[in-house]
Amino acid sequence: MKLDPDDRYEPDDEHGWCSCCRMPCIIIGVDEGIGGYEFWGFRGRDVDIRPASDCCKEPVLEYDPEEESVN
Ligand SMILES: [Zn+2]
Repeated sequence: MKLDPDDRYEPDDEHGWCSCCRMPCIIIGVDEGIGGYEFWGFRGRDVDIRPASDCCKEPVLEYDPEEESVN
């Protein structure tokens, strides 16, 4: 199997395209939970990890948005 220099960048689970700047990005987890709280003496911590782009902290697309605009 020979390497093709024009081979497209293949995204995996940790990569995608930023819905904000439309550039390839790395998916990071952003905590959108409310954090620590106390309810009737019970202390807890609300953690809600959402995937987001590393550049803009915006939702990540699974496909290349530029590719869709061709045609
Ligand atoms: Zn971005």
